[in-house]
Amino acid sequence: MSCLIPQTLYGIIGWPLGHSLSPLLHNTGFRTLDIPAAYMAWPLEPKSLPVFMDALRVMRVGGCSVTIPHKISVLEYMENLSEGAALAGAANTLFWKDNLLCGENTDITGFLTPLKNFEMDKMDVLLLGAGGAAHAVAAALRLRGCRHVRVASAGNKKQYAMAERFGFEGLPWAERHNFPATLVINATPLGMSGQYAGETPYDFGLAPKVEGGLAYDLVYNPPETIFLKDAKKFGRQTISGVEMFFWQGNAQFRLWTGKNLPQESRRALESALKQ
Ligand code: NAP
Repeated sequence: MSCLIPQTLYGIIGWPLGHSLSPLLHNTGFRTLDIPAAYMAWPLEPKSLPVFMDALRVMRVGGCSVTIPHKISVLEYMENLSEGAALAGAANTLFWKDNLLCGENTDITGFLTPLKNFEMDKMDVLLLGAGGAAHAVAAALRLRGCRHVRVASAGNKKQYAMAERFGFEGLPWAERHNFPATLVINATPLGMSGQYAGETPYDFGLAPKVEGGLAYDLVYNPPETIFLKDAKKFGRQTISGVEMFFWQGNAQFRLWTGKNLPQESRRALESALKQ
């Protein structure tokens, strides 16, 4: 590992931009692979997005991660949009290809990578949450041919428009335990450290028993939530949000550098999450 002077700048925009683990993931990758680049955190108010997009072009920023609330508003600046980003209606990654500014949604790849050995088209899926991350998950489920997907959201409003958009079924929140689901996905912040620590959106004991069921939590801090611990008690295989977070970052890194993130990035992420 050497100390190169960065020649290309990358970063993440969001507002408010809390503590993000993306700089750790990508900077560890650049350092380990001797890529002369640096990844910054750029808190960006919504009103400053147009200025930022000009700056990105002028300074020839190599690429950018995009988080709340900019994932939808960046779309109008894209000269090319991937199928997944168009389907999700949101981009979390900006990159250059043939001099064109392109938008991608690597949350889709990140979500699907840990599921690559599962036959998803036959699964009965319950998607809990209908916010930004749930839209990327819904796009991923569509791209993998899932047809039996029910969406429930606590506010009991957003799930219906979202279900219609993707050809799925909207479900009242109170009815989420009424159906057997082979794959239950938590796309709410319940279980996340802080305000929602110790909470879970689903009681596996109330739901019909399912053979060979899976539970997938998008929450990655802590890596093992109550949702996942409960799922294990009921015999389900589990997938932590750490997987999705790492693989969405890996897909970004590949778009920017053509390389996979090294194991050092994975280890740095896991050790940061332990602290
Ligand atoms: P969001 O756009 O704010 O949506 C949050 C969703 O959760 C909404 O459907 C909301 O329901 C629901 N919700 C909020 N508070 C709730 C509560 N107290 N009880 C039940 N439901 C509640 O957030 P997001 O961007 O989709 O993110 C959701 C989670 O996914 C976060 O924990 C985030 O960290 C995680 N995430 C992980 C990754 C990863 O790579 N692992 C990537 C993206 C996001 P209503 O609006 O209907 O009330």
